Amino acid sequence: MNHKQTMKAVVYRSKGCFAIEERPIPQLLDERDAIVKVTCASICSSDIHIKHGAVPKAVEGVIVGHEMVGIVQETGQNVKKFRPGDRVTVNVETFCGECFYCKKGFVNNCQDKNGGWALGCRIDGGQAAYVRVPYADNGLNHIPDNVDDEQALFTGDILATGYWGAKIGDIKENDCVAVIGAGPAGISTMLCARLYGPEKIIAIDTNEKRLALIKDKGIANTVLCPGSKDFYQTFLSLTHGRGADVVIEAAGGEDTFQMAWQLARPNACVCIVALYEKPQLLPLPDMYGKNLTFKTGGVDASDCDEILRLISRGELDTRCLITHRFPLSSAMEAYDIFETKKEDVMKIALYMDEQ
Ligand SMILES: [Zn+2]
Ligand SMILES: [Zn+2]
Repeated sequence: MNHKQTMKAVVYRSKGCFAIEERPIPQLLDERDAIVKVTCASICSSDIHIKHGAVPKAVEGVIVGHEMVGIVQETGQNVKKFRPGDRVTVNVETFCGECFYCKKGFVNNCQDKNGGWALGCRIDGGQAAYVRVPYADNGLNHIPDNVDDEQALFTGDILATGYWGAKIGDIKENDCVAVIGAGPAGISTMLCARLYGPEKIIAIDTNEKRLALIKDKGIANTVLCPGSKDFYQTFLSLTHGRGADVVIEAAGGEDTFQMAWQLARPNACVCIVALYEKPQLLPLPDMYGKNLTFKTGGVDASDCDEILRLISRGELDTRCLITHRFPLSSAMEAYDIFETKKEDVMKIALYMDEQ
């Protein structure tokens, strides 16, 4: 076969098995599709969930990858906002823009058959030299000229998650905001929470090295490691003796849901952006009279243009998350490091081999 018709791609073969395969370069299937030549993609913890068989909708044989940037190669005749040569981010959500939920702005509940998280899960994603993006006018965003690929890389997934988590938290100036989870999504959430001018951001995690990075980069005002006897007392003393005005739970650990509502002051907002592997207990008798508001959900792709504007203006910068870089041909080595959390890995940028 002519080498120009195939490409390398990371494929979910079966539970427990990812592999690099030679695959056909994708073609336009619909007049609203675009083909994007991927320049850089990242590995997400959701990819690891797929590998473990923990994502029921994931299809065996699919090319994974749902957080990437690239250059538009080809567009269907009904794609209006993008032309070949445009530099773009690809967002994790596929949405039609026309159904009941899309019209209300709830794009991650799109009723299209591929609505929601399809790329790199139910349809081929972007850990490959090329990716087909359905509804390209919705699934792509223009990268401003002064923003490079690594600055833009997380726009469509973890930054979209962090931005959305901070937005639904309704953070006010002078609020004390607690963010549980100091991984990539937690850090993205802290960076986005800062945009609202809170009095302080308190980062909570059991990983001391991640807390040290957060302290070093000034991403949160204070870092706290749970587990010590006086954890809650210390937290109260940091929040005027009341508890947090807003709690954002981005960890999804064994006990972090309980921690989230316990750290909240009365009448606070508790936002759950974490993905849990098990059901969680909502102990209503214990929180009676606390008058909490709970908000839940996952990534929302509707603010990617605003996120890119903030990056362009220097108000959001996630480059510190990239700890490792590999060519796509070394993706299996990259996955091993990411999955086993070797070398204090945070995020990995996969660069596509030259065609
Ligand atoms: Zn992801
Ligand atoms: Zn829709």
